[in-house]
Amino acid sequence: MKKYRQERKEEIKQSRKKYNQTHKVEIHQYYSKCKAEKRLWYQTHKTEKREYAKKYQQEHRVELQEYNKKYQQAHKTKITKQHRQYYQNHKAERHEQDKEYRQTHKVEIQKYRQEHKKERQEYRQSEKGKLLNSKYIAKRKRNLGFIPLMSNPFPEEIQIDYHHINNIFVVPIPRQVHRSIGGKNHRIKVNDWVEKIIGNVGVC
Ligand SMILES: [Zn+2]
Repeated sequence: MKKYRQERKEEIKQSRKKYNQTHKVEIHQYYSKCKAEKRLWYQTHKTEKREYAKKYQQEHRVELQEYNKKYQQAHKTKITKQHRQYYQNHKAERHEQDKEYRQTHKVEIQKYRQEHKKERQEYRQSEKGKLLNSKYIAKRKRNLGFIPLMSNPFPEEIQIDYHHINNIFVVPIPRQVHRSIGGKNHRIKVNDWVEKIIGNVGVC
């Protein structure tokens, strides 16, 4: 049988191609029916399937955890890349979902905030929290980008601000310096300082 098929490979291929071309409509109908049936099956067995998955997960928790851990370690860079790409592709959707969630869960969110007041405050005052807040303000309130041109070169005890050298890039600067150069032409004056102290970082 195998030999027969091998010998007539090209012939079979051609006749299949011909069949596909002359029966296009039927094939399409068959596959759409199949799809619809599958969908229906999935819809009617949704709860069942979910229950089964849940049960399976509970019964195999340790193995699954082990497996996930190993997989994540082995594919770290790939996973990060995939997540980033996924986030980029679904950004708009995600923002809509988040917005909706915030609107429909106002009470829960309020309660969570009340219960975690202290942690939230601590986080806001941490370096990471502050950076995230500046980023948020830059993006949402000032319609600016927030791409750091370098990591913070200053010692930990020096408080820093991220100064916008243009509408997209930021550079870490000691807060004392940043705040002392206020008023008109703040950006240009601070950029001059940056150029003098840190060097030319491509200010434009
Ligand atoms: Zn600034």
